[in-house]
Amino acid sequence: MADDYQMPKGELMKGKRGIVTGVANHQSIAWGIAAQLAAQGAEIALLHLPGMERRVQPLGDSIGVKTLAPVDVTDDASVDAAFETVKAAFGTIDFFVHAIAFANKDELKGSFVENTTREGFLRALNISAFSFVDTARRAAALMPDGGSIITLTYMGSERAIPNYNTMGVAKAALEAAVRYAARDLGPKGIRVNAVSPGAMRTLSLAGISGGRGMLAKGRNLSAMKEDTSMEGVAGCALWLLSDLGKSTTGEVIHVDAGFHIMGFSDDEDTDA
Ligand code: NAD
Repeated sequence: MADDYQMPKGELMKGKRGIVTGVANHQSIAWGIAAQLAAQGAEIALLHLPGMERRVQPLGDSIGVKTLAPVDVTDDASVDAAFETVKAAFGTIDFFVHAIAFANKDELKGSFVENTTREGFLRALNISAFSFVDTARRAAALMPDGGSIITLTYMGSERAIPNYNTMGVAKAALEAAVRYAARDLGPKGIRVNAVSPGAMRTLSLAGISGGRGMLAKGRNLSAMKEDTSMEGVAGCALWLLSDLGKSTTGEVIHVDAGFHIMGFSDDEDTDA
């Protein structure tokens, strides 16, 4: 199953151990990242949403994962238990991947102003942004010799994307949290960055109204006129999580075939 993607093999992560959250199935961005890290020699613990064992276990088995644990980031006891499992297995870690987001479907369509509720707003911010602060703190406590932390964000934090709505606000909070965490953890030798992929065909995208359309629009509006590849996103994660990423912290790196740099699309070019 790790062969679904062409992940370059090597030893960039040899001797490094860490946690990858957010694998729900083989389309998850976290899965592509885990497959790439494993192909470069990393030892990985997978933390997955409770109830996902049946899907996640075989994926983990295919890349030699021996430590799996459920985690629901809205439940402190669950997060405590998951990090205890990792501590018991690894002692210390070198990297941490936060790839968790959620917003109610009703918040991901139509008018942002009309459809955003207090409950939905706080839920999205809790799961998609606070969970990063909470888990990054716990991960950093297992990194006495320094390390590298990444999260996943989307350009809907910077610009108003149709239907992305509350999640865009949560991603803006997440990106600010990356900068503050980078400042706090920098003196401890821990780097903190965000990867910002273009739209990719995952469960999360399916939850956004018109999510499939975001793929075609992202492709057509991108500089390269192509989809964001799992290999590209995983490659960026590998760079940031390995020693190749030395000296880079607090950044939001776009991996979106140049979607974020574009102004007008070509079909809007007119001499009129
Ligand atoms: P995905 O649905 O495969 O991953 C989201 C993960 O969040 C799932 O594994 C889910 O189990 C987990 N999760 C949700 N609530 C949780 C909770 N309470 N506790 C623990 N885990 C929980 O989809 P994905 O697209 O791979 O998303 C991963 C990250 O990438 C998200 O942060 C997403 O916003 C971001 N992202 C996705 C895209 C895209 O187009 N798919 C683009 C840019 C950024």
